Amino acid sequence: MKKKNFYDYMWAMSCLYLMLGVFNILFAWLGMICFLTPLFISIFGGDKLYCNRYCGRGQLLEVIGDKFGCSMKRDPFSFLRQNWFRYGFLIFFMAMFLLMIYGTYRVFEGASLEEAVMLLWVFKLPWQWTDTAFISPWIAQFAFGFYGIMLTSTLLGSLTMIFFKPRSWCVYCPIGTMTQGICKIKHKNEIKCRQEQNR
Ligand code: SF4
Repeated sequence: MKKKNFYDYMWAMSCLYLMLGVFNILFAWLGMICFLTPLFISIFGGDKLYCNRYCGRGQLLEVIGDKFGCSMKRDPFSFLRQNWFRYGFLIFFMAMFLLMIYGTYRVFEGASLEEAVMLLWVFKLPWQWTDTAFISPWIAQFAFGFYGIMLTSTLLGSLTMIFFKPRSWCVYCPIGTMTQGICKIKHKNEIKCRQEQNR
């Protein structure tokens, strides 16, 4: 049997993250690790090592879909793989992210803190059981906003996992699209550099 490494259990970290966010919304900040690490790896390493090895979300979908048999294991709709959809979804996702940052900025400027988590960008879930009085309101506002994004992507990933193959979310995951785009640009530049050196 293949020896397990610590990164084979990143799915457990993903579960823990979601639970911690319910317990105390401020733990949502930890999600920035999952947001920034893949970008750093693709920018400096030029590959998708994060997706292939360290992504807890991808692993979790695989565990639930494959091991627990919660996936219908059908091929995802072909349009999900098309660039227009993947990049369109990425742009939409980033626009929502920037809106969330703007909301955080408004609270920083004095607007009142909104203790709610937005699910699927439309449903406002009241989330008032965490005492956030001891920190700056904008820090809490970012946590509410970011947890909403993480919860929304988990829900979309889970629905995609149920109706299609377990990791079908990876086909249009905004982080995956971004890292793939970065790797393509990097490799194109490397090839160009090598061609110029060989001239
Ligand atoms: S595409 Fe997204 S969900 Fe899939 S492994 Fe990469 S970062 Fe994780």
